[in-house]
Amino acid sequence: MSLLVLGGTAEARALATALARAGIEAVVSLAGVTRAPAAMDLPVRIGGFGGDAGFGDYLAVQEITGVIDATHPFADVMSERAARICGARGMDYLRLERAAWAAGSGDLWHDVAGFGDLAALIPKSARVFLATGRQSLPLLGELAVGRHLYLRQIEPAKVDALDGVEIVLGRGPFSIEDEVALLRKLRVDWLVVKNAGGAGGRAKLEAARMLGLPVALIERPVAVDGAMVRDVEAALDWAVLRMRGRE
Ligand code: NAP
Repeated sequence: MSLLVLGGTAEARALATALARAGIEAVVSLAGVTRAPAAMDLPVRIGGFGGDAGFGDYLAVQEITGVIDATHPFADVMSERAARICGARGMDYLRLERAAWAAGSGDLWHDVAGFGDLAALIPKSARVFLATGRQSLPLLGELAVGRHLYLRQIEPAKVDALDGVEIVLGRGPFSIEDEVALLRKLRVDWLVVKNAGGAGGRAKLEAARMLGLPVALIERPVAVDGAMVRDVEAALDWAVLRMRGRE
């Protein structure tokens, strides 16, 4: 009898700490995308499950009684699968997803549905900084034509580089001062971010506002069916109720 926390976010790490402190038996699952993941206060399993069947087998073999899906707001494959399979099995499922960012005064934000909309929005010859992660590289396509793109990644690319795309290595959290300095140094005209939400990634948006830079914000995928909370405390309350109820 154990909870499974689907991780890959700061919230999942904080939830692991909170669950461990509360004495709730749980395991954290990471996809294995970063080579040196941050330490966790709960047991961790690493790597994909091997699709729907592998995930279903894992839940059964490990006698998982409930899933807290604390994956990144853009990890839609894993979230959709977890919600669907838990729903079909009558298992407890909770989505922990931080609130999206909302524009304030002085922000020059443009919402776009996906990477495919960027080329129509961002003028040719612009110098564009993408804080959208390693998976964006294959999605840049037409945007890379006639523009200079900087793509920030935590680790060196595992896929072939694309003409017109320069990789900038960096691991957050970044301060506003650091972000201002970097955007200035690279003489960036446009910033592209996923609307991930949360405090950790906010500095680049503050920096863009200070520099008067326009920002293209990629909207989140459609939310999955199922209960959702926005913060770690609410997820902990949910877990305590579920697990104590089974004792
Ligand atoms: P995704 O598109 O939803 O999932 C792709 C595949 O990765 C899944 O089919 C699954 O592999 C595996 N996977 C994803 N999350 C997993 C987890 N917590 N434990 C075990 N396997 C997992 O996810 P993604 O966007 O590639 O993100 C991968 C991981 O990085 C997630 O854990 C996410 O929280 C984190 N992350 C993502 C972003 C982002 O912008 N997408 C940003 C920061 C962190 P199988 O099919 O083999 O089971």
